[in-house]
Amino acid sequence: MKVKVISILEDNYMYLVIEEQSKQAIAVDPAVPHRLLEIVKREGLTLTAVLTTHHHWDHARGNEALLKEVPGLKVFGGDDRIGGLTDKVTNSQELKFSSINVRCLFTPCHTSGHMCYFVWEDECTDAPAVFTGDTLFIGGCGRFLEGTAEQMYHNLTQVLGSLPQDTKVFCGHEYTIKNLKFAMLVEPENEKVKEMLSWARARDDDDKPTVPSTLMEEFEYNPFLRLSEEGVQKFTGKTDPIEVLRVLRKEKDKFKKPKERLPPHVLFLKLGQTKEEQEVNN
Ligand SMILES: [Zn+2]
Repeated sequence: MKVKVISILEDNYMYLVIEEQSKQAIAVDPAVPHRLLEIVKREGLTLTAVLTTHHHWDHARGNEALLKEVPGLKVFGGDDRIGGLTDKVTNSQELKFSSINVRCLFTPCHTSGHMCYFVWEDECTDAPAVFTGDTLFIGGCGRFLEGTAEQMYHNLTQVLGSLPQDTKVFCGHEYTIKNLKFAMLVEPENEKVKEMLSWARARDDDDKPTVPSTLMEEFEYNPFLRLSEEGVQKFTGKTDPIEVLRVLRKEKDKFKKPKERLPPHVLFLKLGQTKEEQEVNN
């Protein structure tokens, strides 16, 4: 199983999961459809399905165009607001594409219909992968736009945190540096945060993505997965893990207050904005 990481829009990722033998491919959040189809063609792949993490335009906007271009394509997702949805999935539902298996993990909070996708291949020793959309980021987690701290706690600890530790994490945005700057504020003594931040900066200098990480690594530096750590509790002034998470997210919201989300046509006219001004999900 191969995962192709494709940087799109301001700081989004879309992905292609490729079964190398059959050359069948599944796309995750293919928000720039023609770019995706170019790659599919160039690599001699057959696109069989789309997995959509959530309905936000920067993840789901490509679905309808892909349906027009690829007859018989299936578009999976957990929210009726997802454009072009052909197959609505529910928690724990398993999908099979040749030797590639997908388990749908319902993770409501960033949006009320958010799904993550855990993917592995039959008879293959490669580590599994999880596509986390805007729920878990490298070094951070998504905003609680349509949900509660209780839900996100469940998502992070029970749903994602209980996956095999070597699972590779492919998230929806490249927010790693900004997330780790916040992690430094939360746990200034954490050497893993420092190491990861300097590594992420070097990747940025080379214009290379920081995905994937592994779950095991996330537990070492991502404050949103370290709610029982003394330093994180001290920063938030709370000990109950859900309260720690609630305060942590509030502090992250304030860390660099994102501006209101602008519709795409307005974004287009405002290309002079800084990257920070356009960031809304993290
Ligand atoms: Zn989003």
